[in-house]
Amino acid sequence: MIKNIRECIIVLIFILLLPILVPFSLLKNQLEKRKRGQLASRFVCLECGNMIGVEAIRLADERWSEIVKIIMSKSDPGIRLRLVRTVDAICPHCCCQYRFRETEQTFVVREVSPEWERLEPKQDSE
Ligand SMILES: [Zn+2]
Repeated sequence: MIKNIRECIIVLIFILLLPILVPFSLLKNQLEKRKRGQLASRFVCLECGNMIGVEAIRLADERWSEIVKIIMSKSDPGIRLRLVRTVDAICPHCCCQYRFRETEQTFVVREVSPEWERLEPKQDSE
């Protein structure tokens, strides 16, 4: 009985904190996005030597949306998928793809495993 009351109190506290937690996480997400954009505007592409800029973030967002759409259309509707984003920036000059390393606050060239290469739809097949 005491355990149930304790669980109820924890759930109640969580529900009461939701109006604080949701805006906080949205704001945090927005700030991280802005910071990533600022880093991209100063980041020099390791392949072609040009600045990748905020355009690289937008290209990666579009590319990731396409990838998710294609994966969702090919999977069974009843299956829950857990997708891990694999591209955070694409150089608008040479199409070099980058992942963002949160801990180091920088972009690194995306390494593609042969298995993922098989799963990910090709850009030129669209
Ligand atoms: Zn480049």
